[in-house]
Amino acid sequence: METKLNVKLLRSTSDPEDLIAAAARLCYSKSDIDELFEKMTHEKSVDLLKRLVEMGHESPTEHAVFTFAIEGVSRALTHQLVRHRIASYSQQSQRYVKGSDFKYIIPPSIKNNKEAKEKFEKIMENLAKEYDEFNKIAPNEDSRFILPNAAETKIIVTMNARSLKNFFTRRCCNRAQWEIKQLADEMLKLCRKAAPELFGKIGPNCYSLGYCTEGKMSCGKGAEMKEKYKNLK
Ligand SMILES: Cc1cc2nc3c(=O)[nH]c(=O)nc-3n(C[C@H](O)[C@H](O)[C@H](O)COP(=O)(O)OP(=O)(O)OC[C@H]3O[C@@H](n4cnc5c(N)ncnc54)[C@H](O)[C@@H]3O)c2cc1C
Repeated sequence: METKLNVKLLRSTSDPEDLIAAAARLCYSKSDIDELFEKMTHEKSVDLLKRLVEMGHESPTEHAVFTFAIEGVSRALTHQLVRHRIASYSQQSQRYVKGSDFKYIIPPSIKNNKEAKEKFEKIMENLAKEYDEFNKIAPNEDSRFILPNAAETKIIVTMNARSLKNFFTRRCCNRAQWEIKQLADEMLKLCRKAAPELFGKIGPNCYSLGYCTEGKMSCGKGAEMKEKYKNLK
């Protein structure tokens, strides 16, 4: 059965911009810890945050963390996601959860091609049947070897704001694979709702730096991308 992407921001650090600014103040002022939030307005925090980014002093942004629940994504996607090492993950197990009647993701290029879609769905149905048969004679942990990359999975991921910035820079880029790009866009929208000042200027390099870093591999759609990420919410 086909399924769709579903992403939720489960928890995040409250007042993340103020916390990051407090961490920065500790670095640059004589304030005792009881004084870190004194005389600080949110506007001053945002101003300090901007200066940190300009200076390249990004470690204070590591104090703000965001936890997402993600489902309706393929194993092909999570294989890419977990390459982001500065994060914590909990993923549905194919050892403990049987793959019978597994849901699957259909890539747009297949969905938009009637013949390819029919064949793909047939293959998935057959694999589900084969899995059930095979699972009668082999344990889950080995039966899962015949499940496809398209099989749906669920994962909880926690990243700090610095790591998220790195993630969005790479995965919102048009060079990223369509499914993880779609996920990154949804996660960025949620981050912008939770912390607009922290994430408002974050996106692919063409948007956040103002120029593309992909050289010959550039998608050549800088203007379109800048407009998209300026308005993404
Ligand atoms: C378009 C695209 C195509 C890709 N294609 C491939 C591919 O063909 N094959 C493939 O294997 N991967 C591929 N990747 C994955 C990519 O190489 C990274 O593994 C992935 O994007 C995670 O990025 P990261 O290491 O910056 O993130 P994280 O692991 O979260 O690391 C964050 C940052 O911490 C620092 N860091 C972390 N660990 C170390 C370390 N051990 N040593 C030094 N610094 C460290 C680095 O500055 C790093 O940028 C691709 C990624 C993209 C976006």
